[in-house]
Amino acid sequence: TDEAQISFDNIVDRAGTMMRPTVRLGVTGLSRAGKTVFITALVHNLLHGGRLPMFKAYRSGRISSARLEPQPDDAVPRFQYEDHAEALIKERIWPQSTRAISEMRLTINYESASGWNRLFSAGKLSVDIIDYPGEWLLDLPLLEQDYRTFSENAVRLAASPARADLAEAWISRSRAIDVKAAADETLARELSDLFSQYLKACKSDERALSTLPPGRLLMPGDLEGSPALTFAPLPDLPVGSAPAGSLWHMMEHRYEAYKRIVVRPFFRDHFARLDRQILLIDALQAMNAGPEAVQDLERALTDILACFRHGSSNILTSLFTRRIDRLLVGATKADHLHHESHDRLQNIAGRLVDRALARTQGARVTTEVLALAAVRATREASVKEAGENLPLIVGAPLKGEKIAGETFDGNTKTGIFPGDLPEDPESFFQALESKDDADRPHINFVRFRPPKLETTAEGLTLSLPHIRLDRALEFLLGDLLA
Ligand code: GDP
Repeated sequence: TDEAQISFDNIVDRAGTMMRPTVRLGVTGLSRAGKTVFITALVHNLLHGGRLPMFKAYRSGRISSARLEPQPDDAVPRFQYEDHAEALIKERIWPQSTRAISEMRLTINYESASGWNRLFSAGKLSVDIIDYPGEWLLDLPLLEQDYRTFSENAVRLAASPARADLAEAWISRSRAIDVKAAADETLARELSDLFSQYLKACKSDERALSTLPPGRLLMPGDLEGSPALTFAPLPDLPVGSAPAGSLWHMMEHRYEAYKRIVVRPFFRDHFARLDRQILLIDALQAMNAGPEAVQDLERALTDILACFRHGSSNILTSLFTRRIDRLLVGATKADHLHHESHDRLQNIAGRLVDRALARTQGARVTTEVLALAAVRATREASVKEAGENLPLIVGAPLKGEKIAGETFDGNTKTGIFPGDLPEDPESFFQALESKDDADRPHINFVRFRPPKLETTAEGLTLSLPHIRLDRALEFLLGDLLA
C-alpha cells in the first residue's frame, strides 16, 4: 500500500540521513513565478562566491565548499542547471521555464559553529533541490472530489466575470451534447482541448489567473495525449449515475484514472518526501492584471497552502508521513520595485498568506514571507521632478518591449518609475476593491533583460546579483548548518 511504501522509504531515508545528512528542498510556484531562475541563482551564488551577507554560516566563513553531486533519484530528470546558468550569464536571456519535475543535489561542506555539533556531524549537508510546477499542487483537493463535484466546481468557476468570456467556447460546446450518448474518442478529445484552451487563456499575462485545476492539463509533463489527460468536466449532469458506455461514463472513468495514475503518485513519491519548501508567487504580475487576478492568487494560495497543513482529512493524512517543517513564501521579481517598496511588497504578500492560512485547517508549519529577486535585473536611480525626488529603476527592457511608444532592442537601458505600493497592506486590499480604477494600485511592469555580471577591479567576475536571496537561504538551510 501507499502507507507501507512510505514508511519503508522513510526508514531507508532516515538511515541514510544518519550517515549523511540530507535535506529535500522543494521549489514550487505557479508557472512563470520564477522557479528556474531561483534555483539557478541560488546554486550559482553558492558555487561562485556570491554576496550573501545574511546567510550566517556562509558569511562567517564556515562553509568551505559547495559542489554538485549526482542526485539520489534515478527516475527523476535532472534540473538542467548548466544550461540555465549559461543562458542567464553568457547569453543574458531568461532560461527555459519549469515544465515538469526535476531534481539536483548540491553538497555543502561546512564547519559547525558549536564544538558539540562538530564532534557529531560530518560537516556535510546534501541539499536535494526538487523543482515542480505549483499547478500540480492544486490537484490535491481533487483526491477528495468525485467527478460530479469536480464538474460542478469547474463550471461554477467558469461562470465568474473574469473567466466567462474565455470559457464560452468550451461551455457552449459541452451544453450542446448529450452526455448519455455513446462514448466517442474524437468528442472527448475535442472537449478536453476546448477545456485546456480555456485554462491556458486564463493564464495569459492580461488575465494572470491562478486557480486552474487539473494541473496537468496546463503542465502535462510526459503524459501529454494519454487518456488520463484527455477529459473535461461536463456541465449540468443529470441525477443518477453515468450509463455504461456513455461519454459521461468515459469522462468519469478518465477523471478517476487521472487521480489514480497522476495525482496520487506525485504526492506519494515526491511531495510527501520533502523536508522544506519554498513557494514562489508572482504577486506583482497579479497586481498588475487587476483585482480579479489578486483574488484568484489568494484562492490558489489557499489551495496550495492546504497541502502544507494536511491533517484535516484522512485521505490526505495517509499520504504524508514525513512533515515539511519550514515553508518560505517568496514574492518574486522584487527588482521591479524600488527598495522602498520591498518591505511593502513583503507585507502585502504576508497579508495574502495570512488570509489564505485563515481559511485552511491543520497543523501550522513554520512559515515566513519574503520579497525577493533571485536575479536582480535592475539598479536604482532617482529624478528630480517639481522639487521632489522620484525613485526610478533602471534596466534594459527585453527586446520588443514597448514603453511610451518606443520599442526596445534588448541592449538599451532606460529608467522607469515603477509605481508605488501603499505602506499599509490593509489599504492595498481596500483600494483593490474600489470601483474606481484610479484608486487602485498601479505597478509599471516592464520585463527586463538579465543583468551583465560585474567585474571587480582585480578582474574577478561576481556572481549573479539578487535581492534577499541570502535571507531565503538562511531561513531554508541556516539551522541545518548551525
Ligand atoms: P518558472 O516557470 O517558475 O520556472 O519561471 P522562470 O524561473 O522561468 O521565470 C519566469 C520569468 O520570470 C523569467 O523568464 C523572467 O522573465 C522572470 N523572472 C523570474 N525571476 C526573476 C527575477 O528574479 N527578476 C526578474 N527581473 N525577472 C524574473
